[in-house]
Amino acid sequence: MIVATSLAAARSLLDDESLRTESGNTALLDLGLRRRPGDTFLVFDLDEAGFLERYTGADPSLAQSGESLVQAQMPLRAGESKDDALVRLEPLLDLALPEWRERVTWRRTAAAAGRSGALDPPGTSWRDRPAIDRGDGVYLVGDQVAAPGLLGEVAFASARRAAAMATAGTAAHGTLTV
Ligand SMILES: Cc1cc2nc3c(=O)[nH]c(=O)nc-3n(C[C@H](O)[C@H](O)[C@H](O)COP(=O)(O)OP(=O)(O)OC[C@H]3O[C@@H](n4cnc5c(N)ncnc54)[C@H](O)[C@@H]3O)c2cc1C
Repeated sequence: MIVATSLAAARSLLDDESLRTESGNTALLDLGLRRRPGDTFLVFDLDEAGFLERYTGADPSLAQSGESLVQAQMPLRAGESKDDALVRLEPLLDLALPEWRERVTWRRTAAAAGRSGALDPPGTSWRDRPAIDRGDGVYLVGDQVAAPGLLGEVAFASARRAAAMATAGTAAHGTLTV
């Protein structure tokens, strides 16, 4: 059995309290803007760890003609509200997208809780996260388990490893039960 849910769901499904890792919380801002020549495509904010991308810079079909689709995010500090984090995000928007407030045609915000993938605190590595092999033919897959890579790569790497382990026995015996 391969369990490929969030780690919180796997913890409940497998009744295993040890299935926990560090992850991050992030405030998300999606914007439709009237297009302006010279708008920045991509910004990594090294001061506040914010991030901004104007996705229509790569694929104009993502918004209607004359408009840009922008998605930006700011990590939430411990106890910080989404709205406060969005205020900290605004200086990044001011730098990347001049006069963006006057150009907004659509706006959506959200908070992503525990969705920034696994975080490995100093002194730990991906090897210290919950193991893929849970014993008794149960395998755990996802972006917070013990597999290398970043974000989606961890999910892919763990899935490949779980599939290899789950089918290793069946190949040896020449049978596969679905
Ligand atoms: C805003 C944002 C931007 C991102 N950008 C990138 C990026 O640019 N590059 C990148 O590599 N990664 C990115 N990621 C991370 C990437 O999306 C995840 O690392 C990846 O989707 C994790 O895959 P997963 O299979 O572990 O979990 P998920 O994709 O979350 O899949 C888990 C699935 O399990 C289902 N589920 C939950 N509970 C149960 C249950 N009890 N029973 C059945 N099903 C259940 C859920 O509905 C979900 O479909 C981003 C994530 C976010 C939130």
